[in-house]
Amino acid sequence: MSNLRGRKKSIIVISILIIVILKVLVARNFKGEVNSEVIKNNLKIRINECKFVYENMEESEEKYKKLLETEEESFKKGVYSSALVQFYIMKNDDEKIIKYGKEAVENYNKVKGGEYYSIEEKENLAWALFKTGKYSESLQKTSELIQIITSSGNEILTTDELKDTEAFVYSMLLCIYSKLGIFDKAELYYNKLCEIELTPQLQASKGDKIAMSKTIYAEEISDLDLMKKYAEECYEIRLMYDKEKGNKSADSVILNLAIANVKLGEFEVAIKQIKKSEEFFISVGDSDGISNTYFVYAQYYAKVNQNELAIEYYKKTINLYNELEDYYNLQLSVYEFIKFLKENDKKEDINKYYEIFYDISKKISESKDINELLSQIINKNYELNNNALELLENESKSDKRNIIIGGIVIIVLSAMVIRMDFLIKKKDESEKILEKVANTDYLTEINTRAYGEKLILDEINKNNKFSMAIIDIDNFKNINDSYGHIFGDVILKKIAKKLKESIDSKDIIARFGGEEFIIAFVGKDKDEAKEILDEIRIDVNNIIFEHNVKASFSAGIEEWDKTSFDLVIKKADELLYKAKREGKNKVVNR
Ligand code: GH3
Ligand code: MG
Ligand code: MG
Repeated sequence: MSNLRGRKKSIIVISILIIVILKVLVARNFKGEVNSEVIKNNLKIRINECKFVYENMEESEEKYKKLLETEEESFKKGVYSSALVQFYIMKNDDEKIIKYGKEAVENYNKVKGGEYYSIEEKENLAWALFKTGKYSESLQKTSELIQIITSSGNEILTTDELKDTEAFVYSMLLCIYSKLGIFDKAELYYNKLCEIELTPQLQASKGDKIAMSKTIYAEEISDLDLMKKYAEECYEIRLMYDKEKGNKSADSVILNLAIANVKLGEFEVAIKQIKKSEEFFISVGDSDGISNTYFVYAQYYAKVNQNELAIEYYKKTINLYNELEDYYNLQLSVYEFIKFLKENDKKEDINKYYEIFYDISKKISESKDINELLSQIINKNYELNNNALELLENESKSDKRNIIIGGIVIIVLSAMVIRMDFLIKKKDESEKILEKVANTDYLTEINTRAYGEKLILDEINKNNKFSMAIIDIDNFKNINDSYGHIFGDVILKKIAKKLKESIDSKDIIARFGGEEFIIAFVGKDKDEAKEILDEIRIDVNNIIFEHNVKASFSAGIEEWDKTSFDLVIKKADELLYKAKREGKNKVVNR
């Protein structure tokens, strides 16, 4: 009887459990669906408010500022900030776009699905940040966008929306890499953009930005015909937008066309376009636009040999950039002006502008942005480091319009001219950092094989005596197989560290292959080398890693006999195999 009751009880308990589990499951599913509906609806709310701005420019600014002040709820605050961003996009006011864009993203971040509401704002932010010379922040926003579009389970964005954002990301990367002067990366994204099929939808939403980014790329690689082609395309697209909306925004991008024409010597068209640009920017009160236009005026007058006017406009440009605290463009314009003064033998003014130039260079070199940028370059990846390094070297010989790396390079140029030793030091320091990163193996933090070989060849060329060791970790495959590669990496790193800190600073160590290292014991014969390496071998063998694992290595050592690098390596390698055959955890020399 009691047994039966017990069974009944357990059946009831199990049933309740099943019901509870089912309910939870159903509720979860249900919640999931509702969430994506909510997100889609909220996205619509955002779009509608922006549409309102679009159609009611006059009342929008005041309306949304008021709403933003009194609103408590995060999502709505985000929407009102978005509406203001829309307003300032139409006003061409990048500083305000940045201000309200950041506010929008901040608010969206506080609510579920925020990353989706932020997409548009992040795009606007990335673009505005780029336009105002804040490349590293722009790159940051772009990589956030990449994260969103590559994150899995993206059932909220439609394929078209994903494509749209992807195209934007490519444009952004194209702009940034072009300005950085990292042309092989830029070319990659240029090609990707060229491959993208521009549907009418995509053309409508991103066409002008895509064309603009191609213009910037063409300008940076000094392909003027291509630059003109894309600048024209961008202008045409804007004209089309204007027709639809009945406003006049095309002239905000006509300046690129003017730049191409000035450079191509098409002066008659160029001056007309410059004037149109000036009119536009004055009519909307856009100081950035006005200063950019003055800069092109100056270059135009310089080219057509109207020197007095050129000087007047260079001075106007410099004053305005200075007022705007746009140091990148300020530096660039002062640099161009100095070049102009030199070419025209106007020595009187030059010193004054060198001084100004020096002050700005100092400001820029101390500014957070350029340091951030350098660290971005350094961290980004290996390939990029090499490019940046090459660039630092090449750029100092040319005068490409390259603001960021140009910033550093111009520091170098100015330093040479004004003989400011400490600035040279600064440039050397950045080069050294880049060089070090490029030559260091990312995992073990010792020299790469290529760099190690270069250093050893230097010793050979100097005819310096050394003993060559090849080191291979024993049974490493077993360790990986038993405890995984991550654990294997820990051991690899630890042994590399141990080797590095136990040898002389003049000895040369490098990662030779997977779990193989080479060391050139400089100035030491094979017995001295063996003695040192045996000590390290014993130390390594005494380390007890996680899981009670012990590790060991074997090595072969050969003295350099004044023949080639390859030969000494080959002989050391044979001795390594001897050590392995003789039972491992052993150093063998001849
Ligand atoms: P032996 O004593 O004969 O050298 O045996 P072994 O297992 O070490 O054999 P071998 O040198 O041929 O194998 C090297 C292994 O090292 C194979 C590869 O999976 C592993 N390895 C190479 N590079 C890395 C790395 O960067 N990390 C990790 N975890 N394993 C690596
Ligand atoms: Mg091996
Ligand atoms: Mg091995």
